[in-house]
Amino acid sequence: MEQTLVILKPSAIHRGLIGEIINRFQNKGLIITGLKMMQLDETILREHYAHLVEKPFFPSLLESMMAAPVIVMCLEGKDAVETVRLMTGATNGRKALPGTIRGDFSMSGQENIVHASDSVENGKIELARFFKPGEIFNYTPSDLRFYYAPDEN
Ligand code: UDP
Ligand code: MG
Repeated sequence: MEQTLVILKPSAIHRGLIGEIINRFQNKGLIITGLKMMQLDETILREHYAHLVEKPFFPSLLESMMAAPVIVMCLEGKDAVETVRLMTGATNGRKALPGTIRGDFSMSGQENIVHASDSVENGKIELARFFKPGEIFNYTPSDLRFYYAPDEN
């Protein structure tokens, strides 16, 4: 099944929202196949946010992403990338729809609680960036038949 990377950012850690956010993904029916805490550094952040290094807000983003350890997760499911992005909401928490994670927990364009991969291709690249071989597991929930129809695409 499709995999995607989620990062619970320092804003989620400092604000005590870890359980709340993980609960949402589990309740949705996404399967957690990787999960760990790690401290990000400038090297990995320059890679991860390569599309933003020239932006004036990049130094602030760097500082924000290193302000606490983060939690990285591999979530698995049919169309996991698109589904998780929908659950995440628009980048700016003030513009994100109520019901989305950012819409419900963030008032900020920077301190927006979660990162989620934006395409299947980037999901693969990002998972390889944050997880070592062996840190993503392969298992099937015992009640998977109640998550999906047998022939569901
Ligand atoms: N960001 C910011 N100011 C901006 C745009 C982005 O601080 O004007 C931060 C924000 O934390 C965002 C991250 O940079 O989540 C990555 O930006 P991207 O455009 O990839 O948004 P995302 O994919 O996270 O919605
Ligand atoms: Mg992005």
